[in-house]
Parts: sequence; C-alpha cells; structure tokens
Amino acid sequence: MYRIYLVEDEEHLRGVLAAYLEKEGWQVRSFADGTSARSAISERPDLWVLDIMLPGVDGYQLMREIKADQPAQPVIFISARDADIDRIIGLELGSDDYLAKPFLPRELVIRTRKLLERVYAGHSSGMMPAMLERRPRLNVAPYWIDEQARTVTDKDGSKVDLTSKEFELLLYLVSHHGQVLEREQVLRAVWGIDYFGTDRVVDDLVRRLRRKLPELRLETVYGYGYRMVKA
Ligand code: CA
Repeated sequence: MYRIYLVEDEEHLRGVLAAYLEKEGWQVRSFADGTSARSAISERPDLWVLDIMLPGVDGYQLMREIKADQPAQPVIFISARDADIDRIIGLELGSDDYLAKPFLPRELVIRTRKLLERVYAGHSSGMMPAMLERRPRLNVAPYWIDEQARTVTDKDGSKVDLTSKEFELLLYLVSHHGQVLEREQVLRAVWGIDYFGTDRVVDDLVRRLRRKLPELRLETVYGYGYRMVKA
C-alpha cells in the first residue's frame, strides 16, 4: 500500500483530498501546517502532496528538506498563485508534478496515480526505485548538486569546477546537514580510514570549498569542526 503524506492548511480541502486519496486504497496522513510535516520527512512516504502557502514552514522550504533527505522523493505541489506555479515549473524537477488551485479532487487522484506509476513502476510499493529515469538534483541553496554527474551549478546555472575531494566533502557535509561534524570524522569519511595525515587537510579543503562556493551555509564550530546550516 502506498503511503501518501498530504500537507494542506485549509481544513475543508484537506479533508476532501484525504478522502479521495484514501478511496483509492492509499494510506494517507494529513498535516495542517509545515512544521508538523517537517518532523515527518524522515519517515519517507511514497509521495508528498504539498501546498505551497502554509503557515510556518512553507511548501518550498519543505520541498528543499524533503529532497535533501531523499532526492528521488516524488512531490505533487498545489497552489493558487500563478507565481508559485511558474516557480515550480522553473525548478524542472524530475520526479514531481503540480496542480493549480482550484482543481477537482479527481484530478489529484489521477496525477498521483500517474506519478506513483512513473516512479515506482516495476517496484513493489514502499520501495524506492534503484534508478530513476532522470535523477533530480539536490538543492543546497543557492547551489544545485547533481550527484550522478558529479557537478555543481550556481543559481545562474553556471558550473562550479570542484575537484573530486571537494565534491566528496560537499556531499558529506550536505548529507549530514544540521549536525556538528568533527574534523576527524570528516577526514575518515572523505579520505578513508587508511589516510595518514593530520586533520589540517580538512581545514584546507573546507577553505577551498568555501572559496568556490562562497554562499554555502557552512559554519565553523571552533575547536571542533563544521556544520552545514539548514537553509
Ligand atoms: Ca494554503
């Protein structure tokens, strides 16, 4: 059974949409605001239905955190504002869809089924596919990381040249964002346990990464290590 997480602050609409999705045999969990939805990101449902305009944490922020946790996670966006829809289309995300309000609940059911089929075709429900046709990129505002192509682009779309070690460091930091990482820990993760050297190389590499990605939200925790700050 597919698990669908629905985030919508309008109570009536939330109830109607949940009822329609449940009628299809899907397991639906509803959230009335972004903050409660955020705490469920790590549960990795099969699909998110996200309203953009939400009190507290908005749909864009939720989307960023969902994708940072699991880039292949499919999301259907809903919004009444043209500006939101334009922005969503501009994101060119590979495993997502959107609906402009107002829409018929039936339309959401159709889009949901299509997206589930597209993403999970040939896979048993509840399992992430090993490979998606088009892997979405990871957004670490204002940068985009393509893990498969091992490239980083900035907000203008221009490529930032990183060495292989710089890229590995970036991925490691991003995949542990919010956590304070000791130099020693970073050293082992990026250079391997056999590396023979001091953790000064971590500082040097961080310095180079910061020079190339000046807007990276990476904090120095003095006397300890580093932490990627949530956008
Ligand atoms: Ca709303």
